[in-house]
Amino acid sequence: MASLGLLVAGLGLFAANTNANPLDKRAAIDTCLSSAKVPVYTSGSADWNQAIKPFNNRVTFTPVAYAVPATVKNVQDAVQCGAQNSVTVTAKSGGHSYGSHGLGGENGHLIVDMKNFNSVTVASDGNSATIGTGGRLGDVATALYSQGKKAISHGTCPGVGVGGLSLHGGYGLISRSKGLTLDNILSAEVVLANSTVVTASPTDNPDLFWALRGAGAAFGIVTNFKFKTFTPPENNVFFSYNFNFGSASQMATALTVLQNFTRFQQPPELNLRLFIAPGTNLAGVYNGDRSSFDKIMTPLLSQMGISGAMGQVTAGAGWISTLSNFAYGPLQQAKVYDTHETFFSKSLMPDWLDPPAITALSNYWAANARGNSRAWYLLIDCHGGNSSAISKVGADDTAYAHRNATFKMQFYDRTYFGNYDNSWMSFLNGWIKAISDASPGKTYGMYINYADTSLSKDDAHTHYWLGHYTKLAQLKGVYDPKKVFEGPQLVGS
Ligand SMILES: Cc1cc2nc3c(=O)[nH]c(=O)nc-3n(C[C@H](O)[C@H](O)[C@H](O)COP(=O)(O)OP(=O)(O)OC[C@H]3O[C@@H](n4cnc5c(N)ncnc54)[C@H](O)[C@@H]3O)c2cc1C
Repeated sequence: MASLGLLVAGLGLFAANTNANPLDKRAAIDTCLSSAKVPVYTSGSADWNQAIKPFNNRVTFTPVAYAVPATVKNVQDAVQCGAQNSVTVTAKSGGHSYGSHGLGGENGHLIVDMKNFNSVTVASDGNSATIGTGGRLGDVATALYSQGKKAISHGTCPGVGVGGLSLHGGYGLISRSKGLTLDNILSAEVVLANSTVVTASPTDNPDLFWALRGAGAAFGIVTNFKFKTFTPPENNVFFSYNFNFGSASQMATALTVLQNFTRFQQPPELNLRLFIAPGTNLAGVYNGDRSSFDKIMTPLLSQMGISGAMGQVTAGAGWISTLSNFAYGPLQQAKVYDTHETFFSKSLMPDWLDPPAITALSNYWAANARGNSRAWYLLIDCHGGNSSAISKVGADDTAYAHRNATFKMQFYDRTYFGNYDNSWMSFLNGWIKAISDASPGKTYGMYINYADTSLSKDDAHTHYWLGHYTKLAQLKGVYDPKKVFEGPQLVGS
């Protein structure tokens, strides 16, 4: 039986995953990559040791091999080596997945690091740009701006990779007027599981194009995207108000006000987020002048119980200084990225939090979070609503399943000292449970770009993709029937 299994697997007829220890395939994979002349980091080398350090120190994995392709042909050959040897293949761009999905999310994957695919080229008409998936957001923003003062909509952290961000969402400082990063993809060049290269766009492989925009990691390795660009606003107000909630009911009132504002009143030029940690901060960017900003913000601040005197407001800010303000460091990234945290995280993408859910959230904060001395936070992005460009895209137009989400909520618990004790996970799991228990009959969405390692496969599929999962699973059967691209939470896994 064993020899029959090996023979069939060798012919590439089995699914990529078998019960064998995938690390045992190292010699075969190394030989395959070497004969195809695919550049690699050799196991145990200094480059390897650096490259397999995850952003999240809590979640470490050992790959079977680590390819660093320089050409699309190298990517194709790497995918073929994985498929032929029944080894699961995983693309890595910026390596920022909270569940270390860029390292496979489990041991034994062949990692295809896209770091060399980092070019940024604005088209001669200025309306689009071709951007490699291995670029980091800060470098991409700088390069776009240097080519005719252009921009795309993207996330705030300059070290995040284009690949993971764009394939699964991409919310940032201008998303309420320009949409998510994935809403601005015009086309993608993709290496499929059968190692062919195709274009995905509204006219070429439209079903693949649909799936890539929300669930991309399971469908291929994207080498570059063509994005819609825009000329960024140069007259921005960025602001930050620090305050404290004195009680659970004060917090509940503020959240109720903010939710109503986001859904019904927040203009597309205003991007807002509430950061709740031991202290609380309301921050964001307004694309416009100070007097219009004041007209919009003054009533909101007063209803939320925030005094204007608690704020730092900078008006007349250009685009690059606005991005830099939220980057908390230089936009341009070091050649060797070496920033890490040790944390557990969860998310919720509620269309609407009913009063009992807001009360439960706030009571849990008062009882369990406020006195917690670890460096936890709850970040609430004002994501959707009537005037948000994100919510204006049709609910089923992309695989991204959270068009109706008013808030995008990230629950984050980290330690700066030593390891994260798994027993601490009950803190955030309990917070989500309290909100869910107060919301009978509701299935809240969750954001795979804030991958939650405590979710089972089935729960991950349900919450990340909601009603889109069935169609995604069908398309997985079309584009990757042998499951060359797998991970513990990906579509079809
Ligand atoms: C500090 C920090 C700040 C963040 N800020 C924001 C933010 O402002 N807005 C926001 O929306 N999100 C934000 N995120 C979340 C971020 O969007 C996700 O972690 C994202 O998946 C990271 O992409 P990556 O390429 O860096 O990660 P990776 O770990 O390399 O990849 C993540 C996933 O995408 C897949 N993938 C990567 N590249 C490719 C490719 N070329 N082809 C196919 N699949 C690919 C990987 O296999 C993996 O499954 C932040 C994360 C961190 C750590």
